[in-house]
Amino acid sequence: MKRKRILICGSTGSIGTQTLEIIREHSSDFVVCGLTAEKNQQKLLQQIDCFDPKAVYIQDKKAHQRILSQNTGKDFKLYTNQEELIRNTTADIVVMAVVGEAGIPLVRAALETGKDVALATKEVIVAAGKEIQALAQKYNRQILPIDSEHSAIWQSLRAGKKSEVTKIWLTCSGGPFYDPIKWPLKKLQKASVEEALRHPKWEMGKKISIDSATLMNKALEVIEAAFLFDIPEQQIEVVIHPESQLHSAVEFQDGSVIAQIGTADMRTAIAYALYYPERPILAFPKFSFFEQQWNFARVDHTRFPSILFARRALHLGYEAEFNRANEKAVQAFLDKKITFGEIFTHVEAIFDT
Ligand code: MG
Repeated sequence: MKRKRILICGSTGSIGTQTLEIIREHSSDFVVCGLTAEKNQQKLLQQIDCFDPKAVYIQDKKAHQRILSQNTGKDFKLYTNQEELIRNTTADIVVMAVVGEAGIPLVRAALETGKDVALATKEVIVAAGKEIQALAQKYNRQILPIDSEHSAIWQSLRAGKKSEVTKIWLTCSGGPFYDPIKWPLKKLQKASVEEALRHPKWEMGKKISIDSATLMNKALEVIEAAFLFDIPEQQIEVVIHPESQLHSAVEFQDGSVIAQIGTADMRTAIAYALYYPERPILAFPKFSFFEQQWNFARVDHTRFPSILFARRALHLGYEAEFNRANEKAVQAFLDKKITFGEIFTHVEAIFDT
């Protein structure tokens, strides 16, 4: 395999860091051609030292100045505009792992300049799904999902034809407030930022951690799946699976259900996207059925109305509004301006207009 050239947007975050871990372990397969970050200058400098990218961007103005004034001993161009970096850098795949809607113009820039996009920023597909899919088609590029559930669906879909698909089973860990006895509705509505950030299974950025606690993450993923795989929401069913080892499944018209199963490690989904259509050899701990006790349950829509909101948003074409209202509400909650319960009321308000 020719070495693939990888550009990472959001390289110092959780997905960016794990992407670089894979690249470091498989350095004969990849070249890092560009890195962008929001403000973590220290980590970005370490990454520059280790991966030697030729194009770099940091959003924070002070951090930008500090990097400019440092003698890193490395030869790279420091951009003041992330979109320009994407357009000017030759790459096979852009790993999109910035937070939220800010990713939309970046994905646009990547597709328009002939790059595939490995997409971790689901908000891009949620808020601009039709446009992004049309662009990918126009420029003959691929959107490679690195959301673990969508990677699982994507992998399972390879078992049959699209016309034979009857249902998608989208799994959901349930988040930190899954237990209705520990977290009855009244208590849940007053959950603190600290409690909401404590996810039992995954270590992630703040936005997605809150989205996991509200199940808005799963709501966004229903919309993401609908756009990515061009399937009506009625055919997407969410199932709670706290062990997070069955990462999602596809039902075909003969009743066969094909699932992707493995240990809960985002690097599997990232590596699948980077190597697609090949499968890499990965040295992570292997899954064993002998140590498992799996649970499955329905979503409690009374405590978590998020998925119902997403379905409504899809019917009304309000996906972008839904996403924006959620992004705003999450920020307000993180800033301790609204309660946990008010995230739901703020999002639901989009349907009043
Ligand atoms: Mg996911």
